[in-house]
Amino acid sequence: MPTAPRLVMKFGGTSVATIERIRNVALRVKREVDSGRQIAVVVSAMAGETSKLVGWCKELSALHDWAEYDQIVSSGELVTAGLTAIALQTLGLKARSWAGWQLPLRTTDMHGSAAIADVGTERLITSMNEGNVAVIAGFQGVASGERVSTLGRGGSDTSAVAIAAALKAERCDIYTDVDGVYTTDPRIVAKARKLNKISYEEMLEMASQGAKVLQTRSVELAMIHKVPVQVLSSFTDVPGTMVVDEDEIVEKQLVSGIAYSRDEAKITLVRVPDRPGVAAQIYGPLADGGVNVDMIVQNVSEDGKFTDMTFTVGRADFERAMHVIERNREAIGYQRLATDTNVTKVSVIGVGMRTHAGVAAIMFRTLAGKGINIQVISTSEIKISVLIAADYTELAIRALHTAYGLDG
Ligand code: ASP
Ligand code: MG
Repeated sequence: MPTAPRLVMKFGGTSVATIERIRNVALRVKREVDSGRQIAVVVSAMAGETSKLVGWCKELSALHDWAEYDQIVSSGELVTAGLTAIALQTLGLKARSWAGWQLPLRTTDMHGSAAIADVGTERLITSMNEGNVAVIAGFQGVASGERVSTLGRGGSDTSAVAIAAALKAERCDIYTDVDGVYTTDPRIVAKARKLNKISYEEMLEMASQGAKVLQTRSVELAMIHKVPVQVLSSFTDVPGTMVVDEDEIVEKQLVSGIAYSRDEAKITLVRVPDRPGVAAQIYGPLADGGVNVDMIVQNVSEDGKFTDMTFTVGRADFERAMHVIERNREAIGYQRLATDTNVTKVSVIGVGMRTHAGVAAIMFRTLAGKGINIQVISTSEIKISVLIAADYTELAIRALHTAYGLDG
């Protein structure tokens, strides 16, 4: 007998924040069970729980043992998984919870931000075939030495997509506190529209350029394994946004969305000797130090002897980047450093850019029209990002949203 279609339902922290909400989750799961599907539920910790646990680790030691950190911060998901299983049982369903190690969901040894290596499904599938709803603790796995690991903040999205891929689920539904993916942050632009569909690639850019709705790695995984993902709300009954292959989107927009990130920092090395190898001398040590460099500009040197080099990093990496650059001052030979942490990166994203010229021109003209200075520009095939003064964030996003015809 062919097995029933499988569905993965992932519930974020706000969706399981209270016992009442966990009851509501159980009711939603029951509806899908009643429709004849096998269900794997993936849960986050209750909203605020993980941050509380992280805070305790930091309070004890800034340089804590990362394996112990994982042991601690993974506990929030164990609680919600068990509670959700009980809530399902009170509705008369068969259900059991799973910790990451029980599957096992194997990961790399990078404690604190491990990557998924393999999802064990044998025991899970046996249990589901016996009629149990599987309730899986998200965000966690097991590294070598049978040590518990975690996947980085927001990692339960990635757990859910990986499990959906391993189970060959028909879809992975990600329940959150917004009812889908919007053209931009609705808190900034009241006219932001919910997208019915968005391509994996666009979603990947949206997530990595600052839209917080899905963990970036979950989108990568979904794209690789072609898992259809739906982002929807656990508080309403409206359809969400489907993240799908580009071919499945008929009406392609020039620009699908505008993302932004305030967590940026800009560093300029003033008067760097303009000679071969200098870029390697700057960016090599940064990479070795684990600093992720994002945007880069090198000025044309007027005298052929000196140039300025500007780059951006995530705000969280700023101090480390400064330390690395200062330590390498002699080797690089710059005159001085200029820094700015009061900057925002605004990105316009759309697969339409591949085939249509002029998208960048609209962006530059629009920002110029508002008197907003562009400090750094970077582009990819389907994205243009600019760095601007943080004070102009809202103004820039609203103007661009209108300029690209995204206002609802
Ligand atoms: N609870 C974890 C966090 O807050 C994982 C997740 O919610 O996705 O980061
Ligand atoms: Mg999340």
